[in-house]
Amino acid sequence: MVKAIVGANWGDEGKGKITDMLAETSDVVIRYQGGANAGHTIINDQGRFALHTLPSGVFYPHVTNIIGNGLALDIRKLVDELHSLTEQGVPAPNLIISERAQILMPYHVLQDTYEEERLGGKAFGSTKSGIAPFYSDKYAKIGVQVCDLFYEDRLRERLEAALSIKNVLFEHLYHKPALNADELMEQLLALREEIRPYVGNAVGFVHKALKEGKTVLLEGQLGSMKDPDLGIFPMTTSSHTLAGFGCVGAAVPPTAIEDVICVTKAYSSSVGSHTEPFVSELLGKEGDELRRRGGDKGEFGATTGRPRRVGWFDAVATKYGCMVQGATQVALTCLDVLGYLDEIKVCTGYEIDGEVTDEFPVTPRLMRAKPVFTTLPGWKCDIRGCKDYDALPQQAKDYVDFLERHIQCPITMVSSGPKREEMTYRTSKL
Ligand code: GDP
Repeated sequence: MVKAIVGANWGDEGKGKITDMLAETSDVVIRYQGGANAGHTIINDQGRFALHTLPSGVFYPHVTNIIGNGLALDIRKLVDELHSLTEQGVPAPNLIISERAQILMPYHVLQDTYEEERLGGKAFGSTKSGIAPFYSDKYAKIGVQVCDLFYEDRLRERLEAALSIKNVLFEHLYHKPALNADELMEQLLALREEIRPYVGNAVGFVHKALKEGKTVLLEGQLGSMKDPDLGIFPMTTSSHTLAGFGCVGAAVPPTAIEDVICVTKAYSSSVGSHTEPFVSELLGKEGDELRRRGGDKGEFGATTGRPRRVGWFDAVATKYGCMVQGATQVALTCLDVLGYLDEIKVCTGYEIDGEVTDEFPVTPRLMRAKPVFTTLPGWKCDIRGCKDYDALPQQAKDYVDFLERHIQCPITMVSSGPKREEMTYRTSKL
């Protein structure tokens, strides 16, 4: 059976922790979309790790980790990540890189960087990891698959075809130097040797595993709001962040996904640029305090180190986020962070042009939305590390009940700290 662990919001919901936790009882963990542009923070008995490309199952020797065909594979970054794990004393993981995955090239990173420069003040706030040019090239059919690395004539042909387009852009739109196919070939062939032992038929492996009754976890990156179709376009990412895309990016049959665990924080955070709509945002001192107290080391991007924008829990966005993911259950993380507050607000509606709605709108309407808050009492104590849901203060349980009623999806896990074991389990009241 397949379980998907995906984000209900803007990313950084704590999917890494939930994946690491559930990987213990799983056989396969697959990354199926996105690239190294976001990170998952994992804290376990082996240390603190920020994973960008590797699936969060790498800490368990019994788990096979797969880089699915849907991922944007930056080979250099993957190799560096593998080395950093071994340096921290983690045994080499079981890893399969799908031979169908496409390669994120140095020219994608350059194109992303040049384009952000060109856009100046109108830039999207890209992490400049090359993700948008990568996916554009995939759908324009000028991408290069991992399998192409092993057929050098074909590789050269495909690189030359891609560069004939890129170099026009680089020289004439961006006024930058052209790239040379020979140098690129050389770099790629060197990188090929580093990943050679891992490259394989991931599609066949996954289908066989499912036939044998194995448990497969799909690990999503970012969240619903960042999906290019159902999110806050165009302030989205360039790959689909929905569980449903796992059927393509991890090659699992649609009917095999039995459980969609949607992860959401007990407050909101978004690493996006300041031009993005973020209706329940907390600014000023209050925002600074939540940012400082959030996550395990404050709310700062795992990949970029950028301060994340923070806000109150947005029930409008999260209800929609869970709906489009097809969530079967919700894991609520970071409840412990809110223990310092006298009162906690929840955004339960958006006021748009004088009307209040709880339906998440399209972007032009979202840009006009103002938050409608309901205020709840805080619990004013430290619940960090709590492992028994019943032992939580009544106000904390009331807060969770309130969120569940508004998002209309069963909250079954409530996380009380960043560590693997800091988790409570709850019976839904829906
Ligand atoms: P992901 O991309 O969805 O995996 O999320 P990130 O790892 O980028 O961000 C989540 C942050 O919250 C990380 O710093 C985690 O260590 C931390 N975290 C996860 N769950 C909890 C929790 O229940 N409490 C606290 N305080 N931090 C948590």
